[in-house]
Amino acid sequence: MELYKENQLKIYNSLTKSKELFKPVTEGRVGMYVCGPTVYSNAHLGNVRTFMFFDVVYRYLLHLGYKVRYVRNITDAGHLENDADEGEDRIAKKARLEEIEPMEVVQRYTVDFHNVLNNYNFLPPSIEPTATGHIVEQIEMIKEIMEKGFAYEVNGSVYFDVLKYNETGNYGILSGRKIEEAIHNTRALDGQSDKRSPQDFALWKKADDRHIMRWPSPWSDGFPGWHLECSVMSTKYLGEQFDIHGGGMDLKFPHHECEIAQSQTCSGVKPVNYWMHTNMLLLNSQKMAKSTGNFILPNEILTGENNILGKPFSASVVRFFNMQANYRSILDFSGEALEAAEKGHAKLMEAVDFLGKIEAGTTSTFDVQKWKQDCYDAMNDDFNTPILISHLFESVKVINQIKEGKASLTTDDLEVFKNTINAFVFDVLGLMNETSEGNNSDKLSGVVEMLISMRKEARENKDWALSDEIRDRLLELGIQLKDGREGTTFTVN
Ligand SMILES: [Zn+2]
Repeated sequence: MELYKENQLKIYNSLTKSKELFKPVTEGRVGMYVCGPTVYSNAHLGNVRTFMFFDVVYRYLLHLGYKVRYVRNITDAGHLENDADEGEDRIAKKARLEEIEPMEVVQRYTVDFHNVLNNYNFLPPSIEPTATGHIVEQIEMIKEIMEKGFAYEVNGSVYFDVLKYNETGNYGILSGRKIEEAIHNTRALDGQSDKRSPQDFALWKKADDRHIMRWPSPWSDGFPGWHLECSVMSTKYLGEQFDIHGGGMDLKFPHHECEIAQSQTCSGVKPVNYWMHTNMLLLNSQKMAKSTGNFILPNEILTGENNILGKPFSASVVRFFNMQANYRSILDFSGEALEAAEKGHAKLMEAVDFLGKIEAGTTSTFDVQKWKQDCYDAMNDDFNTPILISHLFESVKVINQIKEGKASLTTDDLEVFKNTINAFVFDVLGLMNETSEGNNSDKLSGVVEMLISMRKEARENKDWALSDEIRDRLLELGIQLKDGREGTTFTVN
């Protein structure tokens, strides 16, 4: 039986501001959409926090046996410098400053983003669609919104009519903003905007002569508004109504509010059943900002090349540190806090390493079933990773007692114990046991060194057939031997 059938997962829904029992649209399947990065600069640590949390959500849903379609987009056009539908396209600006093609900017920072996520052991999403790959669909959605009477064209640009939508819909349903406060363009009041009302937002913007990222449309050569792509791509890949939509809390308004208005206008139904938002990340108790120097790139944490943390930390330690905080709380990143996490992480991994050496006893001195249930209960309670980690530390205590001969587990209990720890530590939290990986490469070196000395012996005995066979068989496995003056060395490909 799939685990989800025996687990009552509850999710804090930002839309209703309460924890609700999770019930997917289709039993056994989950559709999840998370707003991805705008690829105009290096991956931001705050974003990494958000994506890391949703990576754990994805991992836990998979662990429960759901078939999950996880869509995380790449914004490669349409995201302007401010939320007021004004200013330059972020990617086009970077391209102009660096005198390269916009798609070179996109490529460079998409590669950087994937590189960071790989380093931090993220599972790739099921689909990673791009805004520029869905221009046709975006134009179609604008047409549909216009046909329904909720958008209007002025001078080649198209705007969503928020006041009209609010007559029957509820603009502000997610962010809690009142319609009067939900103003997208402060400059509208000066008469500099084409918008009928300052609350309106752009679906299509006419490109001026300097704007290089442009596509033909019925209204003008231009580009889509930023909010539109997520409505289009979530509907295309997950349907008009899907289960989970996630993102950082800074996206609630205007981005997610606009997504709801656009999607609901087209389909007539509430597009998302569970909205989830991660809280922000601070660095040394302050907002991260390049301008103040209080700033660090995710990969700089790993290499130690920074003036903030004092030393490098492994990706698994950073993951562990992130998961020690609830995703709805502010996370304060600092060298001190990471060092504490490093110690905890080492204790946990040391205990996990010892798991394989434990032998079953005749009695169990620890209630494994209850502890296992506690672990699931923690994750079922809105993915409460800090509570899960505290239960994992209960198991560390038990492992250490077993080491000292002060506790024991029966064969059956020991198996449940090991499987549960491995599942939560590696599959769900996505932690990595870096020390045992080290041990494995030590073991590999040992084995190859042994074969090298056997080959040397064969050559001394003029057993060329055996010596060649050792060399060739190793090469088949991707291990190349090199004979030199100092002896034989090897490389692993
Ligand atoms: Zn989005």
